Amino acid sequence: MPAHAGCDFSRAESLYQKGSGLARQEDRLLSQSQKFLDDVIGRIDSAAKKLGLDPNVHKTLRTPRRSLIVTFPVKMDSGDVEIFTGYRVQYNYVKGPSKGGIRYHPDVTLEEVTALAGLMALKCAVVDVPFGGAKGGVACEPKKMSVDELERLTRRYTYMILPLVGPEQDIPAPDVNTNYQTMSWIMDTYSMLRGYTVPGVVTGKPLQLGGSRGRATATGRGLAYVTENMLRKLGMGIDGATVCVQGFGNVGMNVARFLHENRCKIVGVTDMTGGIFDPKGIDIRGLAVHSEKEKGIRGFPSGEFIPDFEEANRKLLSAKVDVLIPAALENQITESNASDIGARLVVEGANGPTTRGADEILAKKGIQVVPDILANSGGVIVSYFEWVQDIQAYLWSEEEVNQRLKSLMTGAFNQVWEFADRHRATLREAAYMLAVDKMAEVTRLRGIFP
Ligand code: NAD
Repeated sequence: MPAHAGCDFSRAESLYQKGSGLARQEDRLLSQSQKFLDDVIGRIDSAAKKLGLDPNVHKTLRTPRRSLIVTFPVKMDSGDVEIFTGYRVQYNYVKGPSKGGIRYHPDVTLEEVTALAGLMALKCAVVDVPFGGAKGGVACEPKKMSVDELERLTRRYTYMILPLVGPEQDIPAPDVNTNYQTMSWIMDTYSMLRGYTVPGVVTGKPLQLGGSRGRATATGRGLAYVTENMLRKLGMGIDGATVCVQGFGNVGMNVARFLHENRCKIVGVTDMTGGIFDPKGIDIRGLAVHSEKEKGIRGFPSGEFIPDFEEANRKLLSAKVDVLIPAALENQITESNASDIGARLVVEGANGPTTRGADEILAKKGIQVVPDILANSGGVIVSYFEWVQDIQAYLWSEEEVNQRLKSLMTGAFNQVWEFADRHRATLREAAYMLAVDKMAEVTRLRGIFP
C-alpha cells in the first residue's frame, strides 16, 4: 500500500475560520460552500454555548481532524487525459471509524465536503451509531461521463484516498451521483490493493457483495417515519396530507414512494430536468419507473410540467402544502426565499438544505423544521447495520433491518422532540445540543492525546 501517495493533509485549523479559507479567488461557488461550512460550525458554536460547554472541548468539536486533497489523472474515452480534484475529510472519529458518503458533482469543494463531514459526525451522534463523521467528493460532471470513465475515475480516486479509508478507519457510502456500482468499484479496488476481499470498507454495496437488505431505500424510509411522527405530533392527519418533494434521486424518490404508499398525496416533485405538479396527487410509482428509464422526471405524462428547474423549484417551495421535503442539495431554503415557504412542516431529506438565516425566518413563521441530522439519518443507520453484518459475515432479513431502523429512528426522534420541548428549543437546536453533548462526553472520557 503506498504511504500517503499524493496526499495533502492540510489546513484543518484555518478552514472553519470565517474569512480565511484557501488562498484562491473567491467566487460564487466558494462563497456558497464557505457559507454552508460557516452555518454548520455556527450551529455547533451555538449548541456549545447553550450547553455551557468547556471551551477546550468545544475547540475540538468545531474543527475537522483530517482533510485530504487529491488531484489525479484519468484517461478519458477520447484518449485524452483529464485532471480531477477530489477530497476526503474526516471531521471527527472520537466515537469510532469515520463514516460518510462520496459525492460526484461539479460544485464539490473542500469547504462543502468539510461541512458535510461535520453533519455526518453530528448525525451519528444524534442516532447513537458508533461512528465519527466523514465525507468525500470529486469535482466532475458525472452526467457527461461514460460508465468506463466513471469507473476509471472511481478506481483512481479510491487509490488516492487509500491512506485514509478502511473498515476500521473510514467507511465511504453513496451520496449524490454515486450508487451501488460506485461502491462496488471502490470495494474491488481496495480489496485488490490489500490482496483479499474486504466488504466492510464501504456500505451501500449490492447484496451480492455484502450489501444490506433495505440499505438502498433506508434514507427515504427513515424520512417517511419521521414525517409521519411529526404529522401525528402536530395533530395533522397522515391520510391525504399534501407533500412536495425537491429532488427525485435515491432520497427524494424513496421518501415520495413510502409516503404515497401510506396515503399521503404528493402534489409536487422537482429534479434537474424540471418540475411536475398535480393537486390530485402524482402517481409516484409511475414517475419512479419513468425517471429511471428517462434519467429524470421530464416527459412524465401527467399534471403540469415546468421544464425550467429553477422556476419549478420556486413554485415547489412556495406551494401551500402540509409538508415540504427538500431532498436535493444544500442551500435551497435561504434568507432570500424563506419567507415564501408555503408548507407547515419542512423535513430535511438533503444535507444542509436550510441556511441558518432561513431557520430564523421559518421559526418566526411558525414552520417546524425536522433537521437533516435527524431526518435523513436512516441511511447511516442501515449503513451501520451493513458494516456490522459484513464484520460478522452474516446477513439479516429485510424485516429485521427495517424493524431495527424504525426502532433507532423512533428513539432518536422522541429524544430530540422531548429535549426541544423541555428546553423550549427548535428541533434543530435540540438535535445539535444532543449531538454536541454526546460527542463532548466521549471527548472528555478519552482526553486529549497525548
Ligand atoms: P441523487 O444523486 O440520487 O439524487 C439527487 C436528486 O436531486 C436528483 O433527482 C437531481 O436531479 C436532483 N437535484 C439536484 N439539484 C437540484 C435542484 N437544484 N433542484 C431540484 N432537484 C435537484 O442523490 P441522493 O442520494 O438522493 O441525495 C440527495 C440529498 O440527500 C443530498 O443532500 C445527500 O447528501 C442527502 N443524503 C443522501 C443519503 C443517501 O443515502 N443517499 C443519505 C442522507 C442524506
